[in-house]
Amino acid sequence: MSLETARKAVDFVMELTPREQAIDFCFFGGEPLLRFDVLRDIAQYVGERSRETQRPVHLNVTTNGTLLNDAVLEFFDRERVHLCVSLDGPQPVHDRHRRYGDGRGSFSDVVANLRTALGELRGVQVNAVYGPDTVGLLPETVGFFVELKVPVIHLNMDICASWTEVTGEQLQGIYMAVADQYISAFERGREVGMNLIDSKIIVFLKDGYSAQDRCGMGETEWGFAPSGNIYPCERFIGEDNGSSLCLGNVHVGLDSVRRCAVVESRGNRNEECVSCGVRQFCMNWCGCTNHYLTGRADLAAPIMCASERAAIQAASHALTALRQNQLFMDHLMRYVHERQLSHAWNRKGAI
Ligand code: SF4
Ligand code: SF4
Repeated sequence: MSLETARKAVDFVMELTPREQAIDFCFFGGEPLLRFDVLRDIAQYVGERSRETQRPVHLNVTTNGTLLNDAVLEFFDRERVHLCVSLDGPQPVHDRHRRYGDGRGSFSDVVANLRTALGELRGVQVNAVYGPDTVGLLPETVGFFVELKVPVIHLNMDICASWTEVTGEQLQGIYMAVADQYISAFERGREVGMNLIDSKIIVFLKDGYSAQDRCGMGETEWGFAPSGNIYPCERFIGEDNGSSLCLGNVHVGLDSVRRCAVVESRGNRNEECVSCGVRQFCMNWCGCTNHYLTGRADLAAPIMCASERAAIQAASHALTALRQNQLFMDHLMRYVHERQLSHAWNRKGAI
């Protein structure tokens, strides 16, 4: 992405976001650190616009971790950039899909760089993507991250994979074992944040997702491709082929007809969800997940349903097991305070 395009994307978001709202800018997709020079310049521009408009901004970078070095870490530390490293798990899990061009797995380099980052920065996160071939190893993966002392773990389902072979029963067993790893970490005095468990516990405490928590694609969430094309969420950019989900370009403007259609398509229209007892705790409205799994933004797939049910059960198990654990209670309070019980774990305003 050229600096000019990036500046326009920043201006676009600044104009569309109410003044009192904080904005998260996330550098994500491809590999942002391939152009650390541009990233630094964009960050500087975001800082200038933030001061000028007196609005809070947060900067986040999701990287494959292979290019992290002292200069990058020093910059992240100085500018308070939140770092998230894509690491799928222990070596056999990670190297299955994350390889260099010559076929070598990237695990050793990524873990070495992650260890350095953990020593230098606070709140380092990992993003572990799991597919049908690695989901069974999730408990082991979580145990590995806890031992590495990673403070925040994001577990993300590969929504582009085919999940037809995985049953709801299997998922339930796996997520419960993940919850056991989470419980065991707190019982051993190790605080850990994990989207799969924490976000559901917060939603229990709120008695369900609120209107602001729900999918904001095309309204409070945007994704910008290097071409300047605008998408309703970063997860829709893909190959940037200008599909019907492309809502315009920062150099030309928004296509309001397409934008209205996308905003209209949000929500959930599965018949079975209407009478489901856990619907207020379910993310059956995540437009991109639904789109990739069923072809419609408002229709949840069976695997999504199974995953949500399993996550709700696993979080309930963790909450019951840890309700007397002081470290866990302090963790929840910190989480609530930082998130102000607002939009849980989803990224906003991605570049
Ligand atoms: S991640 Fe899902 S819920 Fe969040 S904005 Fe994108 S489509 Fe909506
Ligand atoms: S758990 Fe399944 S049936 Fe219930 S609301 Fe979620 S997607 Fe719908």
